[in-house]
Amino acid sequence: MTIPGATAADAAGLAALVRLLAARGVVVLSGAGLSTESGIPDYRGESGSRRRGTPMTYQEFTGSDAARRRYWARSHVGWRAIARAEPNAGHHAVEQLRRSGHVAAVITQNVDGLHHAAGTRTAVELHGGLRRVVCLECRRTSSRAELDGRLEELNAGFREESAQINPDGDAELAPGLVDCFRIAPCPVCGGVLKPDVVFFGENVPKPRVQRCFELVDAAQALVVLGSSLTVLSGLRFVRHAARAGTPVVIVNQGRTRGDDLAEALVALPLGAVLTEVARMVRSA
Ligand SMILES: [Zn+2]
Repeated sequence: MTIPGATAADAAGLAALVRLLAARGVVVLSGAGLSTESGIPDYRGESGSRRRGTPMTYQEFTGSDAARRRYWARSHVGWRAIARAEPNAGHHAVEQLRRSGHVAAVITQNVDGLHHAAGTRTAVELHGGLRRVVCLECRRTSSRAELDGRLEELNAGFREESAQINPDGDAELAPGLVDCFRIAPCPVCGGVLKPDVVFFGENVPKPRVQRCFELVDAAQALVVLGSSLTVLSGLRFVRHAARAGTPVVIVNQGRTRGDDLAEALVALPLGAVLTEVARMVRSA
């Protein structure tokens, strides 16, 4: 194994990862740490910036025009960074392992769409995806790119280049900038548009959760990639796997809430780990 900075514990974790992948049937659960090498900052990773302020809740968003204006203004800037990000070596290695049959399924907590962009179109987006927008009245789903064009027209000249971006596509903006932002309604019914992502204070749709439990139930092993498992919506799958005696391996730079449930931990950069692991599985 030739990854710089690997400790004895990392080497043991990598060996476990290769062994489990070689046996096939692995389910991947990915988080923000997988996308940092694509230039999308983690909330708390090494390259990341801690989020300032708390994310908007579903109740705030649906509760007032002012809140929605704030959300869309910040997201209008943040979306630029998400839209131009490309999948990195980690996403590509996961897709390679899926195509070779070593990875059975991918569940992601990320809303950036990078697994899909890497070709993993079956990835279950637990918290939804920023590239879609949903109307809260008629439930019509449309593309974010289409909405972006309309917002761009309504807000010609609106720019904030130095904004700090969060992985949910939210950008830090001066409050004054937000006040003059114009939001766009549903083009069909005039209803309120919301990004097709699960907000804080909102539940992941039950059928989607059920689908994930089924995938974890069928898994030979669960591999967590780049998540500190801070939110219960991801942690519950790790707990579920551990309770069933399904081995769990966590690859994350930093402690996670699932560390005690894992049979092995690897604390190395994901792009390097996954590229090396995919190579070793191929030659195993
Ligand atoms: Zn509508």
